[in-house]
Amino acid sequence: MSWVLAQTFNEMAEDLQQYIADIQQAKEYNSLLATALENVTDAIEITDREAKYLYVNPAFENITGYTKQEVLSQTPALLRSGKHNPDFYQEMLETVVRKQIWHGVLISKHKDGTLYDQEVTLSPIVNEAGLLTHIVGVKRDITQRKRMEAILREAERRWRTLLESVHLVVIGLNRSGEVEYANPFFLELSGYTHAEVMGKNWFEYFLPHPQRQSVEGYFLDILEGDFQTHYQNSILTKFGEEKIIAWNNTLLQTPQGEIIGTMSIGEDITERQAIARMKDEFISVVSHELRTPLAAIQGGLSLLASGLMSAQTDKGRRVIEIAAESVDHLVLLVNDILEVERLELGKLRLSKQSCNAAELMLKAQDQMQIMAKRAGITLSVSPQTILFKADPDRIIQVLTNLLGNAIKFSARDSTVYLNVALSEAEESLLFTVKDQGRGIPIENLDSIFERFHQVDASDSRKKGGTGLGLAICRSIVQQHGGRIWAESALGEGSSFFFSLPRLTTEDENNDNQENLGD
Ligand code: ADP
Repeated sequence: MSWVLAQTFNEMAEDLQQYIADIQQAKEYNSLLATALENVTDAIEITDREAKYLYVNPAFENITGYTKQEVLSQTPALLRSGKHNPDFYQEMLETVVRKQIWHGVLISKHKDGTLYDQEVTLSPIVNEAGLLTHIVGVKRDITQRKRMEAILREAERRWRTLLESVHLVVIGLNRSGEVEYANPFFLELSGYTHAEVMGKNWFEYFLPHPQRQSVEGYFLDILEGDFQTHYQNSILTKFGEEKIIAWNNTLLQTPQGEIIGTMSIGEDITERQAIARMKDEFISVVSHELRTPLAAIQGGLSLLASGLMSAQTDKGRRVIEIAAESVDHLVLLVNDILEVERLELGKLRLSKQSCNAAELMLKAQDQMQIMAKRAGITLSVSPQTILFKADPDRIIQVLTNLLGNAIKFSARDSTVYLNVALSEAEESLLFTVKDQGRGIPIENLDSIFERFHQVDASDSRKKGGTGLGLAICRSIVQQHGGRIWAESALGEGSSFFFSLPRLTTEDENNDNQENLGD
């Protein structure tokens, strides 16, 4: 019996020991949980089934501004911001009462009155009988993240506005070279629609064939991280026109560093390059044109100065004559160069006024009469009273230039005609200067209007002139909104035409309004 008693006593002692150990373990577990709750950065709250606070952790105190003592036995209604309508809170509560988890974003009010955004998860605690006993809320302050999101959205909006309004081409390509972004300026320049561009292979669709390979090579180099940040190439517009673009490229990467494509910004330098070319051409021609007469003057004068030739001899007098002619030519040339430059830079303002075509034609005839007489040419002018608006001196300048050329390039005893006609709709007039001279080869009919272009390089020497007259005429006519051109049959003669819009009183009013607007 006593053995049985001892046995029972031992078992009880063991149970008791186990019990104490279990209690010890549960205590340690509880204190671990408590420490965890006290240290997490998310606010944690436990309410009873009536939603009265039973527990809040220090993060809750931090985020809400209320101490534990202040909120115990209060409800979360304490934190309401008034930014949600009552249905919103009702739905939140009903979800938990249905024993489901509620998750969402809540705007709450801090003790000091400021509002903040929090991401909230409310979980129901249900007892063994299946009844809701408590609600556990985990809340994270996301004001910072939201405020950041807003900054990013704003930054993105600014960039987008910039890309959409800038007068530069912006093209985004993926790794395969397909267009993922094209800004409105590119669409305007290329003539394509957004749909026609997106997803197309850039090199295949938009580059002239000979440049495809090399530009694709640059692209692959950029993807490899081998930076070719600047280069120029042509692109093809929808109408087959080539535009030269100077590019600036950047690599597009994900935050993890994965390369996803390129973004390129390009400037259309087509016009700038053409102007630079023309300027170079102009300077080289001008310097040649100036040097020729200067060399004649310099050579002649040094011959006389050295005493090798006397100014009193026939030869000497001829040298002086040539030098004087060269000076005249230089004066003419310099004046014409300055004139053409002023005209083309738009520095010369037209002073438009009411003109009578007949008057201008007769004045031009008067000015050219002596030259015509000397050359044995008859000037046949058919004046007509047509009223229009133009700068009269400039129109006379065009007429005398054309008459002068017609006289220069005609044989003696021939006639030069000057006519004017009104267009059918009477909205423009057409002047014609027609001669019976040597004519102009068809391939020169356009180029003679370019600066220094002459049919025969010896024309300026033999006939006088600078090769700038027609360029000046073209500028004047174009500034009046008109057009000038020539037709000719070799050996039979040439006709020069220029049309001018015949500004009405209404146009005149618009003109004045525009000026007032300036
Ligand atoms: P230039 O001072 O040499 O006359 P222009 O610009 O007036 O310069 O004319 C350019 C060239 O066009 C002339 O040099 C000449 O070769 C040709 N040309 C102009 N007008 C006529 C014309 N009526 N008949 C034949 N050739 C002409």
